[in-house]
This record gives sequence, structure tokens and C-alpha cells, in this order.
Amino acid sequence: MTNALLTTVEFCLTYDCNLRCNNCTSLVSQAPCNYGTLTIETVQAFIDDCITNKDPFSAIVLHGGEPTMHPEFSTICDMFLKYLAREKDKRVDVNICTNGNDRKIVSYYCRKGFGLSSSPKIANNVDANGNLLAYFPINESAIDEGKPYPVGCEISRHCGICYNYLGFFACSPAAAMARVFEYTPVAHTISELSIGKMEESFIQVCRHCGRGRTDTIKKTEQSSSKTWLSALDDYKKRHNLP
Ligand code: SF4
Ligand code: SF4
Repeated sequence: MTNALLTTVEFCLTYDCNLRCNNCTSLVSQAPCNYGTLTIETVQAFIDDCITNKDPFSAIVLHGGEPTMHPEFSTICDMFLKYLAREKDKRVDVNICTNGNDRKIVSYYCRKGFGLSSSPKIANNVDANGNLLAYFPINESAIDEGKPYPVGCEISRHCGICYNYLGFFACSPAAAMARVFEYTPVAHTISELSIGKMEESFIQVCRHCGRGRTDTIKKTEQSSSKTWLSALDDYKKRHNLP
């Protein structure tokens, strides 16, 4: 299995989304967040950091939430196209990970030259008949059942690390969980990244995360264990949410 840690980054532009799927690994429906949208300056700083560090990522995935909901998404696409244009060896892929719910937007950006890594089967969370698809519940902590949990799972190995409004995290679920469990980022800049720091962070985050558990069954209904119910309740109080 290819280990994408430190070679792939999911670049989380916003936690806004046009869907509200149960068990969303970005916690869009469970922990609404209207403050996690990256500024243009932050996006430019990330691109500059990539250039300074000689293009360390072979894949950059524009991610969310739903990345096309970023109010300046078109500008951001142009910034990444400019970044790719200077990268003569074409060793870097920049993709849009969208739920594909807005077909017009998707075809517009495909024509702009972006690849499309959407997987409606998962991201839309509904099948062709409109029925909700089952999904591994991120909100079921193994520690609540006294069960073992993985320290790092296939999500991080396949999808790589994540950058959001707080900084770098070991995977995209961990980056989303940070706003509920108040984790600090593993790093703020590319030069601070290391495999060792990521592996250390798994010890902190994976015990809360049901996404990597092998014993959980896929569920269509929202499913939260005791630790999550309490953490989500605290999160809503902190942010005056109903
Ligand atoms: S489309 Fe993706 S990001 Fe949006 S709510 Fe569903 S799972 Fe979450
Ligand atoms: S178990 Fe969760 S937090 Fe840990 S690596 Fe997998 S997806 Fe990330």
C-alpha cells in the first residue's frame, strides 16, 4: 500500500457544504463551522511555502466541506493553475474533491483543466435512488467501548495529511476533530512537518475517531458515542449553537 503521508495534502478551503450528510468526516453537520474558511492570503502563503520547499507534495487536493462553496473558489483555482504552470516537470497533481452536487460548477472547473476526484458514491452519501449510503461513523470512539483502536489507519496512508485554517494535521478527520476536541496543529509550515510528529499525533486523535476502526459497521443514521455526545455538546455551547 502506498503511504501518502507527507506526499499528499488535503487542503481544506472551507467547512461550509451544500449537503449535511450523517457521519460526515469533516463534521459539517455535527459541528457546524462558519469560521473555517481560508483567506486568499493564507492560500497564497501555502503556495509560496510549497515553492520555497521545492514542491514537497505530489498531490494537493482542494477539499472541504465542499471546496466549491468557498466564496473565492475561482480565484483560488487560478492561483493553483499558476502554481502548476511554473512546475515544469508536472510532478504535482492538484485535484478538486467535490461532492459533485452542483454539476455546472464541476464541469466549469473540469474545463479549466482540473482533475475531478469526486466520489458521489461516498461524498453525496446517497445512491441512485436517493437512499442514504452507509458510512463508517467517525463519531464512535473505541475508548468508549474499551476496544482497541488503530494508531493511524488507511485514511492517512491513502489520503495524506490535511491543512486547514489552524495548520497541518495528520489526516483530514483529525483536522476536523480539532475544532471539537481543541487539538493544536502538528505544524504551521511545511518545514516543521515530520513523519514522527504525525505518528505522535495519531496517539492523541485516533482514540476519539471511529473512522479507522475495523469493528464498526457502516451506518446511515448519525451515530455518536458517549465521548462525542459530550464533546459536541460542549462545542455547541462554546459557539452558541442550538
Ligand atoms: S458532502 Fe462531504 S463534506 Fe459535505 S456534508 Fe457530505 S460528507 Fe460532509
Ligand atoms: S483513525 Fe481517524 S484520526 Fe486516526 S488516522 Fe484514521 S482517520 Fe485519522
